[in-house]
Amino acid sequence: PLDREELGRATWGMLHTMAAYYPDAPTDAMKQHATHFITALGQLYPCKYCATDFAANLETSPPKVDSRVDLSLWLCEQHNIVTKKLSKKPFPCTMEALDKRWKVGAPS
Ligand code: FAD
Repeated sequence: PLDREELGRATWGMLHTMAAYYPDAPTDAMKQHATHFITALGQLYPCKYCATDFAANLETSPPKVDSRVDLSLWLCEQHNIVTKKLSKKPFPCTMEALDKRWKVGAPS
């Protein structure tokens, strides 16, 4: 089994990589998939209080799914909300830093 930290690292890794490869100009169907996927995490994420807090954050700040840049920056901010809650150092939310970490060298 994964502990809470391993699960978090794996989940954020998948989410940031998904955002890094999200289209610049997504179709309406793709936007819906992204919104549903993220919203479902707020219900299904298997750390109950993490999911509850994440779902509340989604109410305050709904997923920005209009482009790769919008989704990547929005997700970075959401991740930083959790990171600050855990009293850890936030990540610089710039596309340069995000692409360097999650795009260059990742799967095509
Ligand atoms: P992580 O925070 O997992 O980050 C992994 C890597 O992502 C980092 O090494 C860094 O390279 C990169 N990174 C860091 N910040 C960003 C960013 N803002 N944008 C892009 N890349 C970044 N844990 C709890 O204890 N309580 C919670 O309430 C909680 N809620 C969570 C909610 C969700 C939706 C998820 C996915 C995880 C949650 N977690 C929670 C887990 C927590 O966020 C961390 O994943 C876990 O503590 C491990 O932290 P870490 O320091 O190894 O790096």
